[in-house]
Amino acid sequence: MEKVDKKEVFQSVANMEEHLSHFYRELVQLKQRVSELLEENHQLQIENAHLRRRLEQLLEAWEEEKRKETKHGKKLIDIGEGYDNLARLYQEGFHICHVHYGSVRTEGDCLFCLSFLNKK
Ligand SMILES: [Zn+2]
Repeated sequence: MEKVDKKEVFQSVANMEEHLSHFYRELVQLKQRVSELLEENHQLQIENAHLRRRLEQLLEAWEEEKRKETKHGKKLIDIGEGYDNLARLYQEGFHICHVHYGSVRTEGDCLFCLSFLNKK
């Protein structure tokens, strides 16, 4: 057992080297992927903030419209532009309810959104 087979040692070092360079390549790819995801996340945050602002404007416009109609004693039969916009936003796959507010609907219809839309 004392006699070490040099060829075997070199072979296992070579194997190890190959494994390490393989891992290194994967690490580089992983790093690349992480930076892509961070960038994507950054873009989504911007988009999300934009949509939230837009949604707030729509909600405010809609509330305002409702207030005016109530003040003037009109019945709320007229479905205003604000409502149309919200309904469209919902159709496009975004939450318009206060619960999930501005996030993307991932699981079909949302009861909060629907009851919000039905309140008119
Ligand atoms: Zn919702």
